[in-house]
Amino acid sequence: MIDVAIPGFRRLELTDLVCDFNGTLASDGVLLSGIRDRVSRLAKRLQIHVISGDTFGTARSQLTELACEIVILPALEQAQAKQHFVDGLGRNGVVAVGNGRNDALMLAAAALGIGVCGDEGIAAEALQSCAIVVRNIHDALDLLLSEKRLIATLRG
Ligand SMILES: [Mg+2]
Repeated sequence: MIDVAIPGFRRLELTDLVCDFNGTLASDGVLLSGIRDRVSRLAKRLQIHVISGDTFGTARSQLTELACEIVILPALEQAQAKQHFVDGLGRNGVVAVGNGRNDALMLAAAALGIGVCGDEGIAAEALQSCAIVVRNIHDALDLLLSEKRLIATLRG
């Protein structure tokens, strides 16, 4: 668990990370470098779920060595499906990370929504639904690995 009280914001008691794949963890279907070590450190504190429409059909093969659950979504209504997945875990315990329009609802629903720009950019709807926007997934994972960074960014 990540348990951190943020002055003027709220106390975060995070148990689960729900992460988009393409545009967030991967570029053109290929897992970005520098992810494995961060994810293995974070997996000691959070259950990690990668949820994806899997546009390139590579999510399972790219994530085989990562300590995460992989959830592949049907083609339609992915935004609703991602939100539903967060609801199933319990919104209060979820940090969600994503970049696309289909991430907007889960970013808004989660206790903490982090948007990443990455190579693909971030959809305007996703941008408006998150509490923090970072350059890339590395920065997002590092934020979760450093409570003081989280506090500095979110405190009131
Ligand atoms: Mg994406």
